[in-house]
Amino acid sequence: MRVTTAFNKILAVPGAWVTSVRFTPNGVVVGLRGRRRRPTCPCGWKGRVVHDRSTRQWRHLDLGASKLFLEAEIRRIHCRRCERVRTEAVEWARPRARHTRDFEDVVAWLCQHTDKTTVVKLLRTSWETVASIVGRVVAEHIDTRRLEHIYRIGVDEVSWRQGHRYLTVVADHDHDGAVIWAHEGRDHTVLERFYDELGEDGCAALEAVSLDMGGAYKTATDAKAAQARQCVDPFHVVKLANEAIDKTRRWAWNVERRTNPAPKRRRGRPPAGSTPPPNKPRWVKHTRWALLKDPDALTDDQLAVLDTLRCQRSVLYRCWQLKEGLRDLYRLRHPEHARVHLDWWLAWACRCRIPSFVTLSKTIRANRDRILAAVELGLSNSKLEGLNSKIRLINHRGYGHHSAAALISMIYLCCGGITLELPTER
Ligand SMILES: [Zn+2]
Repeated sequence: MRVTTAFNKILAVPGAWVTSVRFTPNGVVVGLRGRRRRPTCPCGWKGRVVHDRSTRQWRHLDLGASKLFLEAEIRRIHCRRCERVRTEAVEWARPRARHTRDFEDVVAWLCQHTDKTTVVKLLRTSWETVASIVGRVVAEHIDTRRLEHIYRIGVDEVSWRQGHRYLTVVADHDHDGAVIWAHEGRDHTVLERFYDELGEDGCAALEAVSLDMGGAYKTATDAKAAQARQCVDPFHVVKLANEAIDKTRRWAWNVERRTNPAPKRRRGRPPAGSTPPPNKPRWVKHTRWALLKDPDALTDDQLAVLDTLRCQRSVLYRCWQLKEGLRDLYRLRHPEHARVHLDWWLAWACRCRIPSFVTLSKTIRANRDRILAAVELGLSNSKLEGLNSKIRLINHRGYGHHSAAALISMIYLCCGGITLELPTER
């Protein structure tokens, strides 16, 4: 069997024949000849007059341990539809790519599943290449009609870089919380831009928008989709309660440090049989997870910590009760009781004489109707909460992204409901 025939069978490049095979220090270079006689513009227009010709190489999936390149003559045409000179489209690669479609699909599939360093090392490529490949694959696969038939959305901000750099992310509650839009920034103009892209009809069809308690997204929604019911995400409410607990815990720790400082350690080995003196400030500091975790997920040690706090009539135990009381709002068996429950909680919190919870009760009172709307509409935002941490993970997996555009492409790839097929699955 001739070597070109063998490579034709192994590679089965769509729309081309193998005409030559060269072994170079960089890897194997496979020469191709395209089957198309008339060059075709990426827009679909078929040309007749060739502007010029050149030879181009595309990196393909590795052959054993050696790199494999496809090489073919590529023509440029003056496209009448695009009204400019463009390079012809080839079937084995995307326009403007220097990698084949199969190679790019493998890169994108790996990016959905693992971190960028692994992808770069495994496929012997660079971070910049991975970023531009992801951009191209997302542009091809993303559903261009994803902004149609949108009724219930969730809006959230995600911090992606130090120095207060944020993204605004919009997810569709009715499609498993898939990300439908993302943009850099977190002020009201950013969300207004989304509403503009949605169009007037799209905004008018919105039924519910879940938001955080900040004013920016509210301003934009009031201006562009006033009829939609606004809800405050349960995730943000519970997060504020957790922050209030943390504040009180730090205060309690400082009080303990002042009144009960930890005894200084003596030099040398402690005498045999002696027990180290209790370190009260450190104990208070370590109550954190017992106070913040979901009660169902507490370990025995953490339950013991809560029990000790209860016996000591600690202020931290009352904080914990207040937080769980607030979380009960989202665990009610009959959502119609939410109004009574929240009013009872507000009455309790504003008289509790714990400063951080008094402040919290004021914030919650100001957002009372929007919090109740979330319970009534049953907008569980566990998906959005999961999304928030997933985006953080994506950012972390890329060790931070050099640009917001690169991160947004990655978010669409991993959270935008894109399913990719590997070349081996076709
Ligand atoms: Zn064209």
